[in-house]
Amino acid sequence: MNRIKKLLKYLIRDELTAQHRLVNAILVVGIASLFFCTIFDFFIGTGARTFWIMGLLILCFVFSLYIANVKNKPGIAGIILAVSSNFVLMPILFFAEGGKESGMPIWLVLAGLFTWLVVEGWPIFLIYAGDIVMCVILFTAEYNHPELVNKMADRKAEFTDYIFGISTVILIFGIIFKVQSRIYEKRRMQLENKERELTEMNLDLEKANEAKSIFLARMSHEIRTPINAIIGMNEMTLRESSESNILNYAGSIETASNTLLSLINDILDFSKIESGLMKVIPEEYEVNSLINDCYSLLDMRAKGKGLKLKLEYNEKLPTILLGDGVRIRQIITNLLTNAVKYTDIGTITFEVDYIKKEDQRIDLVIRVTDTGRGISQEDIGNIFESFSRADERRNRNIEGTGLGLAITKQLIDLMDGSISVKSQPGVGSEFTTVIPQIVVSKEPIGNIRDKFNARGTTGQNYKESLIAPNARILVVDDVMVNLQIIQLLLKQTLINIDTAESGKKAIELYKDNHYDLVFLDHMMPEMDGIETFIEIKRTDRYVKEHTPIVVLTANAIQGADKEYMAVGFVDYLTKPVQAKELEHVLIKYLPVNLVTMTE
Ligand code: ADP
Repeated sequence: MNRIKKLLKYLIRDELTAQHRLVNAILVVGIASLFFCTIFDFFIGTGARTFWIMGLLILCFVFSLYIANVKNKPGIAGIILAVSSNFVLMPILFFAEGGKESGMPIWLVLAGLFTWLVVEGWPIFLIYAGDIVMCVILFTAEYNHPELVNKMADRKAEFTDYIFGISTVILIFGIIFKVQSRIYEKRRMQLENKERELTEMNLDLEKANEAKSIFLARMSHEIRTPINAIIGMNEMTLRESSESNILNYAGSIETASNTLLSLINDILDFSKIESGLMKVIPEEYEVNSLINDCYSLLDMRAKGKGLKLKLEYNEKLPTILLGDGVRIRQIITNLLTNAVKYTDIGTITFEVDYIKKEDQRIDLVIRVTDTGRGISQEDIGNIFESFSRADERRNRNIEGTGLGLAITKQLIDLMDGSISVKSQPGVGSEFTTVIPQIVVSKEPIGNIRDKFNARGTTGQNYKESLIAPNARILVVDDVMVNLQIIQLLLKQTLINIDTAESGKKAIELYKDNHYDLVFLDHMMPEMDGIETFIEIKRTDRYVKEHTPIVVLTANAIQGADKEYMAVGFVDYLTKPVQAKELEHVLIKYLPVNLVTMTE
């Protein structure tokens, strides 16, 4: 009994397809009922011939079971089963078991219905047509030659056969339907469980992702805070020292801290892209300052390596475009930085052009060509993969993470643009990117070389862009050195600066003094920037004066800016605070009558 149970379980095991399990179930039920019929026929004495026919039918079913399971061909087993029972055994039984005046018509229906259950695809229709033809032949033969049919002994035997046929067919189909619906129910339950597991896994993943974002935000904060101090203090050394060896050291610190900062930015960008948080933010931007900034930024680095950075641009380029200028700047800078990094002698050409499209649309075309070491054909397919660095051995002396081009490509994809590369080892490389943009002002940029801002933005050449001796601001940060940096960066602007090292102190100062602008750090112990701001908002002074409050943040995670604006901050500044950005915010929010521009 146990073995039979095991065999049955094996025949309808989960790994099989639903159709396979159905064929097996029908064959098992068929074999069992044929066995039962044979015994029944034996007792009512239908004779040896029927006995043999039933035996043959059982053999045929067992053979089909073999084909379906040992040979693993349930489709063929289904066809063998349907053809043999419909066209061989049924006709024989029809003539042997009493023809139309017996339970045979019911069995013909049973055999026909089986076909629909066990055969798949177009053969069903062939067998169905064959069934109809066969019925016509069988009934016509009985009508014209009744002597061919082995009649039942009497009316009583005929009725018994009807009753037996009907009850057996109901039983067989009943069992098949039950088995089938059990199979489906089991499948449904399994799918439901799988779905539940997947939902739970998804929740876990979401939690892990959230934890990653929090970790990144914290890490970015923790790392940016000391870099802020290094860059700020170093900037003051560069501005105030005139000793050449000190300036040299400070120059090296500046390069190293900027590399560190761009590394952190790359990791943050990469993680944003990975978690689908990177968004393209279209804003109007000036094409000439885009070109100017990128060129100026890399020109110094190229010159430092003895390279020439050549700029070629179409003077008909529209002046103002709508698109994510910040990200396009990042893309160009990445390409130019690589060109400088991987070129030892020669020239780097930075080309900007455009292709006019319908309406106000254009394709901005940026091409960076170098005479550097080039990339081999086998590596060229991988350079846009994250963490992929071509020719690791030859390039080992060049610092890099293999993230730059991966980020570049993802950003370009986000903007529906494209990037292509042509390169020949030892000759050079050419990166071309095409980014769709919308034209805001068609006016051509013209000759922008004259407008180039040759003045450095750091070091001794630094020139502040405003002075505001009558303005008074409050700067709040729990880290002393950050307060010092802002004071030092703004020294030449002559602005009066009060500082507070905690939210509580800031509120006290704010209540007692009038400020034209407040810089408030976000992450502070005890009372953070947002809590402090909420308290400030409750003061009578704020209700009357509506002082603009700018949040200082080391949290460079995407979306943070929106959160700040929602709280009511007028703007935000990311640490490390850059002198130019700081001045930009001051010009924007200080009362106009207090500010004198120096440019
Ligand atoms: P990395 O931080 O290593 O520079 P990138 O993603 O920017 O990472 O570039 C991936 C790889 O592509 C580099 O390691 C380098 O081998 C190759 N590569 C990129 N730009 C150039 C170029 N202009 N000339 C030669 N090789 C380049």
